[in-house]
Amino acid sequence: MPCQACASFTANRASGAYSLRCLHCCARLIKSARPLRRLQEGHIAALKRFHGAAWPDVWPEIQRLLKEASTTPD
Ligand SMILES: [Zn+2]
Repeated sequence: MPCQACASFTANRASGAYSLRCLHCCARLIKSARPLRRLQEGHIAALKRFHGAAWPDVWPEIQRLLKEASTTPD
């Protein structure tokens, strides 16, 4: 389920709130860095550090959300 930060983003797209625990937020954060690949990679590295041992499970899920997001018009 999207978190509080997601809810405020839905209400106000200028909201810069992200919760690193929330995979929807992680996907939004990565997407927000596009098309700046270096910035995007920086975000991914930070998320990887944050999630630690859970990352191998978390990352495919984030990628799935990113894929979904890219098929939805902004
Ligand atoms: Zn969220």
